[in-house]
Amino acid sequence: MKKLLFLFDTDPYASVFDTVVAYDGGADRVAGYASVTPDNVGALVDGTIFTRGGKDKQSTAIFVGGSDIPKGEALFEAVKKRFFGPFRVSIMLDPNGSNTTAAAGVALLTKGRKLKGKKAVVLAGTGPVGMRAATFLAEEGADVTLTSRSQLRAENAARAIESRFGVKVKGIVGADDASRASDVKDANIVFAAGAIGVHLLPESAWQNNPNIELLADANAQPPLGIEGIEATDKGKERHGKLCFGALGIGGLKLKLHRACIGKLFDSSERVLDAEEIYALAKEMA
Ligand code: NAP
Repeated sequence: MKKLLFLFDTDPYASVFDTVVAYDGGADRVAGYASVTPDNVGALVDGTIFTRGGKDKQSTAIFVGGSDIPKGEALFEAVKKRFFGPFRVSIMLDPNGSNTTAAAGVALLTKGRKLKGKKAVVLAGTGPVGMRAATFLAEEGADVTLTSRSQLRAENAARAIESRFGVKVKGIVGADDASRASDVKDANIVFAAGAIGVHLLPESAWQNNPNIELLADANAQPPLGIEGIEATDKGKERHGKLCFGALGIGGLKLKLHRACIGKLFDSSERVLDAEEIYALAKEMA
């Protein structure tokens, strides 16, 4: 029985990245669908649940992606709502790699240490990766603040996190180098989650700061989000702080993403969202 993965993407094109990782994770055939919404997903889901029975059903699975977390979450819910009784297949949510990237990053930060009570700042934390990183840090017991160039976007992201996960994070403005440097002054952990190729923090803002213990940056494309660390850093000590760059995080992210795809095909009942993916990341870190 061929392992079929149906990629439902909320963007106008189905993600190439997610397609490649789906094959590398064990799918025999990946079919990508673009601009999928809760309104048009019904017939697509029916095609996955009414075609194979019994154990064969676990060879069909669904991956929900796209660059927008709220749209992805709404689509994920619509897919699950369409399932009934045994008419279901395994499903995973990972818009823009948010769950897998943030889970890998925070799992590396928390490996062998407690984050409870630490002050964490997620720079540019309003995107998919930043919102999930802020969530996982808060779930570890850190006191989390996320920044945005806009106070409104910061507050909206914080509200969305609280409503989905029940954890409180604070949203503040970090519009330029100077304000972001001030935002991280009291932080013990800095997680940069800005858009690709966007510089967020100069080295001078962290190298002599005695509070900062851990730095992570998800952006692999120069200029990096945090100046003074390298993309390949994976627990590298710099100025007395442990640093994790995008490629250092990305190795675990890719392993985790592939492992999740593999798990979709070992049952027809897997639901892989933030909680399950983060738990697996901590096992794998
Ligand atoms: P995103 O949505 O594209 O951007 C995140 C935030 O960056 C935005 O919400 C925006 O916040 C801020 N931003 C955008 N342009 C900016 C600018 N010029 N100056 C300052 N802030 C700016 O990012 P994402 O999809 O969450 O991904 C975050 C990072 O993770 C990206 O660099 C991505 O490439 C990387 N990534 C890494 C891996 C890995 O394995 N290492 C995997 C996936 C993604 P405001 O508008 O609210 O200010």
